[in-house]
Formats: sequence, structure tokens, C-alpha cells
Amino acid sequence: MPKLFIPGPVQVSEKTFRAFCQPMIGHRSGDFKKLYASIHPRLQELFGTQQPVFLSTSSAWGVMEGALRNLVGTGKVLNCMCGAFSDKWFDVSKKCGKEAVALQVEWGQPIRGEQIREQLKQGGFDAVTVIHNETSTGVMSDIREIAEAVREFPETMLIVDTVSSFSTMPIPMDELGIDVLLTGSQKALALPPGLALFSASKKAMERAGTVKGRGYYFDFLEFAKNQADDMTPSTPSISHIYALQSKLDDIFTEGVAARHARHAQLNAMVHEWVKKKGFEFFAPEGYRSKSLTCVANNRNIDVPALLAALKSKHGFIIDGGYGKLKGKTFRLSNMGDETRETITELLTALDAEIPA
Ligand SMILES: *Cc1c(COP(=O)(O)O)cnc(C)c1O
Repeated sequence: MPKLFIPGPVQVSEKTFRAFCQPMIGHRSGDFKKLYASIHPRLQELFGTQQPVFLSTSSAWGVMEGALRNLVGTGKVLNCMCGAFSDKWFDVSKKCGKEAVALQVEWGQPIRGEQIREQLKQGGFDAVTVIHNETSTGVMSDIREIAEAVREFPETMLIVDTVSSFSTMPIPMDELGIDVLLTGSQKALALPPGLALFSASKKAMERAGTVKGRGYYFDFLEFAKNQADDMTPSTPSISHIYALQSKLDDIFTEGVAARHARHAQLNAMVHEWVKKKGFEFFAPEGYRSKSLTCVANNRNIDVPALLAALKSKHGFIIDGGYGKLKGKTFRLSNMGDETRETITELLTALDAEIPA
């Protein structure tokens, strides 16, 4: 099978797959409670929170929709839009029947704290949605600056998607005052797709208690009630939780700071390569993702031909640009378990297929 260097799903290690394949246990059994309890403190550490961390058997979108249904009542939601995933969150808000306001910037640009502040000044916002690392464009917004702006409006909840940045750099939820921090399994965490993880602030849980129409499957209060007893509301993907336990062992053996440093180093290797080859970055300096690189195809190479050659001759799969950026960009992931060796292999293959 070719190796995935697309920004999700990313390559899953043999060790993770072995962990995934352990025998089933009852989800109300002592063994399950022990499993959840054993991973919980490490999850809180990664989230940078004292609050409970919840496990949702869904992809990230389940919790992205759930956060709207739990935190947005009769007020408005400000959806910060700068790429495919963040743009879609606006549509999802409307589909949930919420009064959604779009803060749209051009694809390739970050969301700035000041832009959010300007919108929130108008009043009446229950929540803001932000994607920390917009995977479609390779843009990473400054979450510290954004959190600072939203903190000036205590009635407004800050919902942050870290699907492709979680655990690749510090994102301290409590310190920043983030109200919902969520991530998925198949990108930065390099697990198979199908699990989402999230935590919610005390303020967010209080808000949820007042909001009608939360439904059942993503009701934050259900998650909290069950987590207090080391369980999930409904039968979870137990296999994912085994895999997550194994991944947490990996992360804490490597060391969280060392993991962050590795992602920064690998990302810098890819950046060096981009410059050496005379390509440009789709994202502006200072706002480039640390977990993937969105390369602007200013050299006008044949991206589909590159993808085909990489796959057939080298056994690597990269991404040829998301949606309207197809062919105009290509994306290289350095998420998950990548090392200097594996990134070197990828860059060597790219060198072989793209003339100097
Ligand atoms: C992939 C991705 C999602 C969607 O994840 P699903 O697992 O498909 O639900 C959301 N946000 C970001 C930033 C992503 O990269």
C-alpha cells in the first residue's frame, strides 16, 4: 500500500493498528472504566485543561455541529471563515437553524483578533467558531490573539477546532480561555478516522444547560454525566480508545515538548525544500501551519502528473489541492509519526519528479 502524506487521514503505524485490534470489552464494564480513566489525565494535559475530556464516536464534524447546538441559543454565532472547513462551519450553523454571521477572509489569509473584536462589538453573539489550523489552505491563525479578543466579551463562547494542529504545538485551553476545544483522530493524532475528542469550559457547560434542542447524541451534559463515571453516553468505538491509549504512550514517551519540536523541525525541512525549488507558500509568513505545508504552484507544474508519479514510482500519496485550489496548490503533511527520515524520503522523491 502507498504511504499517505496527505493532510488527513495520515499514515497509521503498525503499533497503533495492533492496539486498535484488541478484543472487545463491555462499555459499561470495569475494564472500560479503567481504560478511560487511564488515558484521561494525559488527555487533560494535552488539552491544557482541568476540565473533563470527552470522547465522541463521530468524526470531528459531529462535535463541530454539537458545539453549535450546545452553545448557541437564541443569540448569534460568528463563523470565522478562511478556507474549506471554516467556510463549511457557517453552512452547518445555518443548517442547525442558528443565526449565523460570516466573517469571511480570502482563502490563504488568517483570521485576526481585531476582525473578531469589530464584529463582536455589535453585541448579541452566543459563540464564535474558529479553525486554528485551516487544513485546506495551510494557514494557521494566531489563537492567542483571537482568544484575547473573544475574552473581552464574556457572554460569547470561543469554539476552536484543532483537528490538524492538536498535539503538534501548545494550545493551552484553560490559559487561553477557550470554551470548546475539539480535535479528530485521523490527522495530527495519526489514529484511524472515526473518533473526536473535546473538552468544554465550566462556562460552556452552564450555557449548554440553558440551550434548548441540544439533541441527544452530542449533548454535552450527557457527556459530562457519563464521564464522571468514566463512561461515554452511548457505545463508543472501543477500538479507537485502545488506539488512543497506545498513541498517548507514544506521545508521553517521546515527551510533549519533544513532539512539538519534532513537528517544528519537520515543517522547517519542508519549508527549506519549497524555497530551494523556487515555489511559494500559499499562506503568508507568520501564519503558516506547522503540521502541513500548502505549496503555491507558482511554477505551474502539472500537479496531477506529479501525484501519479509519486504514487506509482515512489509509493507516496500527497494532496493535489483542496477544492478550488486543486492544481493551484499541493499539500505536504508532516503530521503524526513522521520523522527526519520519512520526510527526507518524501522530499527526495519530490526532487526526483520535479526538475530543479
Ligand atoms: C479534516 C478536518 C475537519 C473535518 O474532519 P472530519 O473528520 O471529516 O469530520 C475539520 N476541521 C479541520 C481543520 C480539518 O482538517
